[in-house]
Amino acid sequence: MPAPMMDTYAPPDLVFDHGKGARLVTEGGDKYLDFISGIAVNCLGHAHPKAVAALQDQSEKLWHLSNMFKVPAGIELAKKLTEATFADRVFFTNSGAEAIECAIKTARRYHFINGRPDRYRIITFTGAFHGRTYGAINAGGNPKYLEGFGPAMEGFDQVEFGDHDALKAAITEETAAILIEPVQGEGGVRAVPESCLRGIRELADEHGLLVIYDEVQCGAGRTGKLFAYQWVDGAEPDIMASAKGIGGGFPMGACLATEAAAQGMVVGTHGSTYGGGPLAMAVGNVVFDELTAEGFLDQVVDVANFMNQQLQGLADRHADKIEEVRGKGLLIGLQLKEGYNPKQLAGLARNRHLLIGAAGDNVARMAPPLIITRDDASEAVSILDEALSELPEAG
Ligand SMILES: *Cc1c(COP(=O)(O)O)cnc(C)c1O
Repeated sequence: MPAPMMDTYAPPDLVFDHGKGARLVTEGGDKYLDFISGIAVNCLGHAHPKAVAALQDQSEKLWHLSNMFKVPAGIELAKKLTEATFADRVFFTNSGAEAIECAIKTARRYHFINGRPDRYRIITFTGAFHGRTYGAINAGGNPKYLEGFGPAMEGFDQVEFGDHDALKAAITEETAAILIEPVQGEGGVRAVPESCLRGIRELADEHGLLVIYDEVQCGAGRTGKLFAYQWVDGAEPDIMASAKGIGGGFPMGACLATEAAAQGMVVGTHGSTYGGGPLAMAVGNVVFDELTAEGFLDQVVDVANFMNQQLQGLADRHADKIEEVRGKGLLIGLQLKEGYNPKQLAGLARNRHLLIGAAGDNVARMAPPLIITRDDASEAVSILDEALSELPEAG
């Protein structure tokens, strides 16, 4: 009999039954230290008591309404998000790809209603990842994700990551926006230098373009600021996509925009059946309140700095296998030397009950829950130490 599910994923033979904090527990009772958290999603860890209570409470009142009716918790969360960021307006989605779709539509619509419908092209960067919908795979431009899905969609121009001159040269009369992840996740956990983000902002202002940040992975406290762009002065976006961490594990995303950038998104221009529903908004408010609670992000920065120091030590001990430690905050990449395979490293770590992931550019990726302690970080690093010692050269 064929397997009932499509073969789009290849999970290991391991089934988790429940979780608590940074630990996952199998059906058989084996505990694993979760340093990937659903790929940067479960920022408060598993089964956070306040998130569980909010979801339980809401689940007994009202699950779904559609946006035909007001959802007060959504208005409240949008208010919090706009007060805490560059944005004035929010559209809630269920996922990151949908937040990106909304961001692209918002940018094009802005030029459309300003009398420039010809300005629709979006500049993106090599190594980008923006999700798996048609718009998002074309924005991401990864040939692996585009192959076999028909002709490439018009309207995206990709330039080399970090090549400011190429970016300048790619701007034309038809350019609407520049779309970038302040820290690339999937592409290999690469933080964009602050000067580049400022350079992008300046170029955009000079040419009347909008800047769109994809903070689906690097946002929601992951880098130690509520959003990664907030580390950089003078590089605010016009539009930003958020998801993953902002729902803490409940499917949710958001497209944020300034008043000016959002001016084209009027009644009837966009929609979502589930986006901004009562369950997601109940959890989203709890996640936001926790992330912005006094001291929470300071603790993220502290544990991230500690982890980084430990990993630098690890990189010294395994200088033959580790190229560099990269990323920002608790979005961490260990780039392996050529000839070593990060998926194999993740497998060896998993054998020792540590869960990590892989990313592009030969990088082992870690995105632990933001609530980890220094002890959790030490434990993860000592497991990685053993796994690296065992890691063979890939055949
Ligand atoms: C995961 C991710 C997406 C897509 O999010 P989905 O919820 O899977 O649709 C988009 N952009 C970035 C940077 C991501 O990491």
